[in-house]
Formats: sequence, C-alpha cells, structure tokens
Amino acid sequence: MHRVETIRFVAEGPLGKLVKWLRLIGFDTLYEPHIPKGIRNIASAERIRLTRTKNSLVFTSVQPVLCIRSDHVRDQLRQVVWETKIRRKDLRPFSRCIRCNSEIHRVDKFEAASRVPDHVWETHETFSACRTCGRIFWPGTHTRRAGRIIDALFGEVSPEEDETKTEEP
Ligand SMILES: [Zn+2]
Repeated sequence: MHRVETIRFVAEGPLGKLVKWLRLIGFDTLYEPHIPKGIRNIASAERIRLTRTKNSLVFTSVQPVLCIRSDHVRDQLRQVVWETKIRRKDLRPFSRCIRCNSEIHRVDKFEAASRVPDHVWETHETFSACRTCGRIFWPGTHTRRAGRIIDALFGEVSPEEDETKTEEP
C-alpha cells in the first residue's frame, strides 16, 4: 500500500484510543476531531484515513482508507499493523508524544526537575520532553507494559499477557 517509512495516518472519531497507540509505537497520526475544521482537508491529505464508518469510503475516494472493524483497540491496532504491512522493526516506540503527535526528545535531568513529581525525578535518570505541549516522559511501568503489548502484537507472547483491552497508554 505505502512504503512503511512514509506511513502516516489520520483517524476519525471515535478512534481516539487507537490514535494514542499508533503514536506510542511511533507513527505520525492525526486525530481528526482535534484538527481545526478549516484545515482538515489539507492536514489529512496524503495520510491513510482510519474510519469506523463505511461512508468515508465514498467521500474520500482518492485517499487510502482503512475501515476499522473491531470495537477493541487491541484488534484495531492489529488490523492496522497487518493491513499496512508494518513490521516490528518499523516501529519507533516512545518517539512521539501520545497527546499531541509531536516527536519527543531526550532532555537533561535538570531540565525535567520542576516538571515532574519529586519522587519520579529522584528515582529516574532519563527523561524526554515534547517541545509542543511540554509534557515530560520517563521510563516506567508504562513503558514495560507497552513493550509487552508490542510483543503480543507481533505474536511473541501469549494473548493472555496482552493488556491493550484494559490498559491505556
Ligand atoms: Zn506533546
């Protein structure tokens, strides 16, 4: 369908959870309800449209469209990965802000000092920041859980360890 390096998505509502997961594994993903109406067409051009409604297939005939079948984010993510032929080595986990889609960058520990809870600052050495929304990220239970979910996605652990059904990133 697309070269993996250039795969970018725009998701329609109500696919907000899927958007977070695609950003978490490193894919540039816009969430349509968050794009100002005036620039929606421009912003979503040359992106694969993720939709839950078959009507979108009619309206956007020039744009690649992926009609998401499941209500469960785990299965939605699996469908996207499968149908766009994304491989595990194509992922760039934790490279993108799950809130605003910008790339995140490693920051100095002291830069993070006033922006994270004290106990987090004292117990962690590596921090990343989103320069767009200012959110700070650090490795933690979150990261490990996401790692297990990625393993499950590519069939490397048993499904009962797959936690996407109950956990959000
Ligand atoms: Zn951000």
